Amino acid sequence: MKKLIRIDKPKDIVVPTEKKELYDVDYIYIPLHKNFKPLVDIGDSVSMSQKVATNGDVYLYSSISGKVVSICEGLYHNNKKIKAIRIENNFKEKKVRFDVREIKKLDDLNRLLNNIDDEQLSKRFVVGKVDTLILNLFVDEPFIMNETFYFINNSAEILDTLDLVGKVYKASKILITVKNVDSSNITSLIDFNGMYPNIQIKLLDDLYLLERKDFLCAHMGLDKNRTLVVKPSDLYKIYYAMKYKRKPNTKYVTIVGNNTSTPIVKDIKLYSLALDLMNGIKYETGSQFIKNGLMTGSKITSFNEIIDGNTEALFIMKKEEVKEQKCLYCGACLEVCPMRIDPKRLMDHKITSKRCIDCGLCSYVCPSFINLRKYLKGDKNE
Ligand code: SF4
Ligand code: SF4
Repeated sequence: MKKLIRIDKPKDIVVPTEKKELYDVDYIYIPLHKNFKPLVDIGDSVSMSQKVATNGDVYLYSSISGKVVSICEGLYHNNKKIKAIRIENNFKEKKVRFDVREIKKLDDLNRLLNNIDDEQLSKRFVVGKVDTLILNLFVDEPFIMNETFYFINNSAEILDTLDLVGKVYKASKILITVKNVDSSNITSLIDFNGMYPNIQIKLLDDLYLLERKDFLCAHMGLDKNRTLVVKPSDLYKIYYAMKYKRKPNTKYVTIVGNNTSTPIVKDIKLYSLALDLMNGIKYETGSQFIKNGLMTGSKITSFNEIIDGNTEALFIMKKEEVKEQKCLYCGACLEVCPMRIDPKRLMDHKITSKRCIDCGLCSYVCPSFINLRKYLKGDKNE
């Protein structure tokens, strides 16, 4: 495996230390992207957690109760214009109850995961025999505090669920991996010292990419096919489904950057708009807005961007005119790429790579400020 590197964090960004709930949005917007079709008509009443759109495989659920008022245009998802189902909130939060039972064996867990109907979460749990179960507290993107807030606000619930999942999988080892510089999570863990004798804590160096299972397992010398790696939010979703018989309809989103004085983590209804998220946020004029991180995120140009399960953060940054310069043929991008891709060569030949994991390291190290990642993603319009 290639040697992983530590990335420098900009000194002018303040980490959020506050979390705020934002559940009282007037409207939500269910994005009709990737062949999604509505399952409801204009005028229909919907309950919270009701299925309202599908692409045949995946369902999208309403995060509020209310009324379908229109199929509207002019909304954005990942900065691309899309249509969306507009649902007006009646603030009654009538819930549809899932039929789940408490987890006692693997079948119960699988049934619960099906009911949660969360593609990414289910994928993480597709694993055969589990020798090692890891709760990984690493987040690669600097300043995104969602997982830390999930953990410090719900530590007991998350640790109980970790213990339970370990028993269900009959894992011989249960570990919590944490950055050795992460004082917030380490402090939370100290509070539980001795309460879970079968859970061990592993402090690791703050190296980029250790959030990802493949790199974490390789770094720790573990067989990735016999290791289950989960995040605090995964365990929180399982705990929440066991307790409330449904999945959470809200999502933590970090708002941070060097052009805002109000860094915060907001717990917001899914399918709200970035406009709702920005309510009460102070920022300077001449800002640019980057969704999901400085290393791997992309700019958004409209606050009509829909917040969905993949929205992790909004960075409010000073606009900096960084001009791409000519390639120096220094080889730094090739040297740093964890997938052994030659990004410059691919860019010159105008080809994208399926092996690229979109980690952003090639762009990060380039002394000529060439945005190699953008070319490898096939995104020439950014
Ligand atoms: S973004 Fe892709 S090409 Fe660039 S370093 Fe990461 S894996 Fe390699
Ligand atoms: S890091 Fe930048 S300057 Fe160096 S070879 Fe790659 S593209 Fe060229």
